[in-house]
Amino acid sequence: MVIRRIMRSNTKEARILGLQVGPPLPASDVPAACPLCGRALIPGPSIDEHHLTPRSHGGKEKFLVHKICHQKIHRTIAEKDLARHYNSWQALAEHPEIHAFINWVKKRPPEFMP
Ligand SMILES: [Zn+2]
Ligand SMILES: [Zn+2]
Repeated sequence: MVIRRIMRSNTKEARILGLQVGPPLPASDVPAACPLCGRALIPGPSIDEHHLTPRSHGGKEKFLVHKICHQKIHRTIAEKDLARHYNSWQALAEHPEIHAFINWVKKRPPEFMP
């Protein structure tokens, strides 16, 4: 019963539960460019947060990136490899598959979502 009520929850209830809803971050808090692809970051649903060192490995520092760039990182590289070998933006950009992705996504609009 409780679960069903949460699933149907409206925005107000979701906010009480601590889920990510509501207005995007103020524009002043959003850096100009994505550290992975270099395209502009537009406040709203097209941006996400990435921990260079995964939280599961004690990483605390987080960066704003495009959602599509973030998904690519995690679909391509396992957490343990992120922690060991790909915990810098340069190392990520040198991964062959990420490198090819960056060249592809660079030609897409800044708010592009698949
Ligand atoms: Zn990006
Ligand atoms: Zn991440």
